[in-house]
Amino acid sequence: MTYDIADEEYSSSRLDHSALFTAYNVGRRMARQGFIDAARLNRALGVAQANEARPYTTTTLECDCPDRVFRLRQQGLACKHTLALILRELSGG
Ligand SMILES: [Zn+2]
Repeated sequence: MTYDIADEEYSSSRLDHSALFTAYNVGRRMARQGFIDAARLNRALGVAQANEARPYTTTTLECDCPDRVFRLRQQGLACKHTLALILRELSGG
């Protein structure tokens, strides 16, 4: 997956990596209990760390990426972009 559009909002200079990993560890506990998918959470961490813009419109509740629109929405599951946004918001960035 590539992100082509510049997006200053996700500049890594604003990212508190320690807080991000604290949020990620909360997510890992949720994954162990079956609330979220562990592999998708790991991909979300990569998205949250990346200093790259997103081609999709993502909120903490919805995303317009193909994975969410064509697959995960029917299952009531969040995509990696939504999980990444939640990780960023929990870590203050
Ligand atoms: Zn998405």
